[in-house]
Amino acid sequence: MSRPVARKTNLYDNIRVYGPSGDLMFMTNARRANWYLDRNLAENCENMDSGIQLTFEPNGRGHYGDPFYTQELHNACVVCESIDGLVRAHVVPLALRRFFPVQIKDHAHHDVVALCLKCHRTWETHLQRFLNELATSRGVPVNGQESVYTNTLFFDGRVKAKMAASALSRYNAIPEARKAFLRGRIQDAYPELDPASPATWAYAMALPRPTVEAPGSIIVKLVIGESKDESAILRHLIMPLRAEFVRAMKPQGLPEFWSITRETP
Ligand SMILES: [Zn+2]
Repeated sequence: MSRPVARKTNLYDNIRVYGPSGDLMFMTNARRANWYLDRNLAENCENMDSGIQLTFEPNGRGHYGDPFYTQELHNACVVCESIDGLVRAHVVPLALRRFFPVQIKDHAHHDVVALCLKCHRTWETHLQRFLNELATSRGVPVNGQESVYTNTLFFDGRVKAKMAASALSRYNAIPEARKAFLRGRIQDAYPELDPASPATWAYAMALPRPTVEAPGSIIVKLVIGESKDESAILRHLIMPLRAEFVRAMKPQGLPEFWSITRETP
């Protein structure tokens, strides 16, 4: 499994984005706000507290009037309320989400929450069991010893390890901190091997391209069939995963209006 890197800065900058007529449309981070400002697509607000105002009428109405997306989000773990070492954690894991139709895939903020590293690890353990049971209940084979979760995410870990090994073996001038990070990626995928050894790098680099269909892909296809039906994904995958998150983690600090049964992601 990939090891998340904890952030030094806030997860949420909570910068308000107003439409040309002054309606609060959504919240954003500094990077995205600057992106608008740099292109003269927005101006800093004069009368409104902290925020930017778009200079153009956007196609959609953003999240205008949606209390979830127009609130400030806390820079704290939603489970234990720790403020240290936060990561963005997926309630609906990428192992499934990457196979969703694009309309659902691209709108994920509701199902990405702030977790501390400790709670993130706990959630990954629950996810692994939950996804395995989901796969088994739908008759999806999980290859040998590997679970649906490890088979996809852990496989991703091996792809990351392959790239890390390739960088380590080719470039000597990588800064030490970066090297340690790359070795960490190798260590995650191959805990039994020495991540500093060129023999390990060669082994990691020999990983073939995946040829089997990922279990996550099979599950999503079984759930939505040929229909690409968003509501089936919501009912059969997204809502049960949200419910499992609440059941297993007992989060004390979920954002207001966060809801297991929210119809849009
Ligand atoms: Zn926590």
